Amino acid sequence: MDGSRDNGRLDVRHVTDEARFEADTIVIGAGLAGLTATRELKEAGWTVRLLEARERVGGRLKGYSLGDGKAVDLGGEYFGDKSTAIAEVARSVGVNGFRTYDKGKRVSLINGRRFEYTGLFPWRMGPATLADLGQAVLKIERLARTVPPDGPWKARNAEELDSQTFWSWCRRNVATSTARAFLTMATEAAYCASPADLSLLHVLYYANASGGFRYLLEISGGIQRYRFDGGAHSIPTKLAARLRDEVRLGAVVRKIEQRPDSVVVTGPGFKAQARWVVVAIPLTLAGRITYEEALPGYRDQLTQRMPAGAAIKCIAIYDEPFWRDAGLSGQVTINDGPFRVAFDTSPPDGSPGVLSVFVTGSAAWTLTCLPRAERRVAVLDGLVRGLGPRAGKPTDFVEQNWLDEEFTRGCYHGFAPPGVYTACGPALRAPIGRIHWAGTETGVHQMGSMGGAIDSGRRVAQELLAREANALGPGATIVGAAAHG
Ligand SMILES: Cc1cc2nc3c(=O)[nH]c(=O)nc-3n(C[C@H](O)[C@H](O)[C@H](O)COP(=O)(O)OP(=O)(O)OC[C@H]3O[C@@H](n4cnc5c(N)ncnc54)[C@H](O)[C@@H]3O)c2cc1C
Repeated sequence: MDGSRDNGRLDVRHVTDEARFEADTIVIGAGLAGLTATRELKEAGWTVRLLEARERVGGRLKGYSLGDGKAVDLGGEYFGDKSTAIAEVARSVGVNGFRTYDKGKRVSLINGRRFEYTGLFPWRMGPATLADLGQAVLKIERLARTVPPDGPWKARNAEELDSQTFWSWCRRNVATSTARAFLTMATEAAYCASPADLSLLHVLYYANASGGFRYLLEISGGIQRYRFDGGAHSIPTKLAARLRDEVRLGAVVRKIEQRPDSVVVTGPGFKAQARWVVVAIPLTLAGRITYEEALPGYRDQLTQRMPAGAAIKCIAIYDEPFWRDAGLSGQVTINDGPFRVAFDTSPPDGSPGVLSVFVTGSAAWTLTCLPRAERRVAVLDGLVRGLGPRAGKPTDFVEQNWLDEEFTRGCYHGFAPPGVYTACGPALRAPIGRIHWAGTETGVHQMGSMGGAIDSGRRVAQELLAREANALGPGATIVGAAAHG
């Protein structure tokens, strides 16, 4: 089954109800970023239309119902003690967090060897490997703190850090092949891209913006510490329920036309006019909209050069979390198998048993080319290697292939290969004429995560309010004239 049994459907209006409309601002994309911007501008008294291509809100947050009012997440899910923005928004709509299940031993399969362990690293890998891993993580942690979350291009050694991949750094700084294999696996799980694709600067930037490299990998002491009761996807659904006058579903934006005193946004079946437009969609997709006049080269280069990561999230459902009785936490990591990490994501009462499996980076590229049935067999084989034969017999199995999604095209977020941030990073947030940019990739606090999306929505609302307050309103800017920096 695919992940179509989602909980994001809402009683809000469809764009075809109102083919022509005007507002102070058009916001494109009803993910957390667009919903936050809309909420903030509405509270400031602006008229807003939030145009969403899909027939649901939430974007990279999507749910799957388990029945009895329980649900799991097919997209974004976790937060930690440093995730203040998403925790605050969740509280504001009455969604509560609970502790991620993290008791018992973890399982790691590295280069064919199976380890059961507690803590972050499998200690049976041997003292030399452990010492090697430990020193590498310390170095990464130290370097990450030198990269400002509000702009990696501002780092003191930005040029040097952005002129190498994370893999080339690992080859110079990690001596043992097992430690490199473990780091590669962890990177693919956390960044959805292989170390050879990622700029070292991006790895450090995301780590620092998230709260630290080790923090990014940890459950109890890290960003995976909590989940939301009812699922993270219930947050955008509840936000949208309070924005019924603003949200329009089924509105696929194809073109943005800037005029001296307004902006015209069009798509199949609708035409909207406003003073401002906020583009709150993934970077790659922002590059596929037609702009008139054409955007400056520095902005187009950015959208050409920042691809989305690759992830397929699979959910295997069992009558009970049988691994817990065997003293296992349900966490399975594999460096050369069909996925990179699986976690116990059962509901708070432990019924039914649920494993969420993250097929990421190179594993996603391999599996996405297989027929769906073969992907299922491959994923279940990996779970059996980790947790035993019962893992091969789920009562239900769901997959959400984010690469195939027309209005996402990969996740968890857009990443930068070498040279991008130092060449055109400032274009991430710099407005162009009447167009302002949001979306998690433009966030500062927890860029790439739910928090980054909220942060970007708040920032873009402040930008627009400031522009109007400073009388930089209609007619005051020319397309392409915004400062590149
Ligand atoms: C599998 C997975 C696991 C993740 N895990 C976590 C996690 O544990 N913790 C965490 O904090 N984050 C996690 N994330 C990341 C998090 O979900 C995202 O950072 C966040 O939801 C992005 O929100 P956004 O509003 O920036 O973008 P999106 O959610 O992508 O919203 C953009 C919206 O724009 C719409 N759209 C696109 N094109 C158009 C168009 N042309 N016209 C109109 N609308 C359009 C889309 O349909 C979408 O609704 C995960 C993501 C995934 C997919």
